[in-house]
Amino acid sequence: MEKYNVGWGLTNLCNMNCEFCYSKQTRKETSELSITDWKKFIDENYDKIQTINYGTGENTILDEFFEFIHYVRTNYPEITQSLTTNGYLYERVKNNKKLYDIYKSSIDEVDVSLDFADKEKHNKFRGGRFVYDWAINTLKMLNKDGKKSTIVFVGFEETMKKENIDALFKIAKENNALLRLNIYRPVNKIKEVNDRYIVSYETLINTLEYIAENYSVVSLNDVLFGNMYTNNKEVDNTGVNSIRILPNGDICPSTYLISDEYRNKYNIKTPNVMNKIDFPNFKEPPIPEECLNSNCSIVDICKGGVYDRRLLWNNTLEKRDPYCPFENNDTDQKEKIKTLKRKRVSVHDGYLPTMFFKNKEN
Ligand code: SF4
Repeated sequence: MEKYNVGWGLTNLCNMNCEFCYSKQTRKETSELSITDWKKFIDENYDKIQTINYGTGENTILDEFFEFIHYVRTNYPEITQSLTTNGYLYERVKNNKKLYDIYKSSIDEVDVSLDFADKEKHNKFRGGRFVYDWAINTLKMLNKDGKKSTIVFVGFEETMKKENIDALFKIAKENNALLRLNIYRPVNKIKEVNDRYIVSYETLINTLEYIAENYSVVSLNDVLFGNMYTNNKEVDNTGVNSIRILPNGDICPSTYLISDEYRNKYNIKTPNVMNKIDFPNFKEPPIPEECLNSNCSIVDICKGGVYDRRLLWNNTLEKRDPYCPFENNDTDQKEKIKTLKRKRVSVHDGYLPTMFFKNKEN
């Protein structure tokens, strides 16, 4: 059996106030489990887990987070552990040798959220006066410690302006980090928020082409764009060998598919729950008719595009990805399919539909 890549939010706590936050609502509505529950789940299911990425909320706020990652590393060193942080990691470990040593020995790589390279904009956007400094200090520490690091930004119109992209690549270069783009998903229950952050097809395609020309593409782990722009066969692992655990222990098929219909089915408190997980909708969903009728050259591998985008935009897997070029009357894109080298470089690669880039080597 293929092992799972697990995204796990241990806590509802977060010291930011991001308007777009994917988990804000869910975090308000659910209670947390204790470290005893987390340990029991790992003890029962460790042999079915390949990687854990701790995200959702700011896990580093909790002392128990450090205790837990130490427990996992000590008892199950074969599990790769990574963290997504808003930069608070540095604040927690800078004057605490015990926590610093745990982070050093237990965390294999870190994603640092940085949406704007401009300090004022980032602080305002994330809702905190020191967020930018935290992010930069964390990146510097990771570089000094020789840890794999990635700057991750949410893709919406404002963050995808060329000046911001260039400046983010500059910070990535200074800190020996990769850059990762997560295209905004309309997970928010407030329509105006979704409308504000959904990036247009034109902006997205222009940004990808700009990055491909000026920087290096490491991986397009997105079943639509990966298969459009590379000759690697990308698959969508949502709900198949990739799952998300919410702070109350509910197991969902994806970071973005966390509404009521995906929750309350499986919970980590159920004994040996990983043997029971089954999200049948994602096993072999039918290819949308519109794809089969489009003379699409990648239909056998793209198969309609990214599952979560199809569900979030259309509420069904029977319709194709909203960013499909055919859906946007841009058949020229088919002519532009390029061959780009790819190698597995990060835990996040294969765990959710996302894209990695880096500066060109001199
Ligand atoms: S037509 Fe369907 S299979 Fe082809 S690129 Fe668009 S979404 Fe993918």
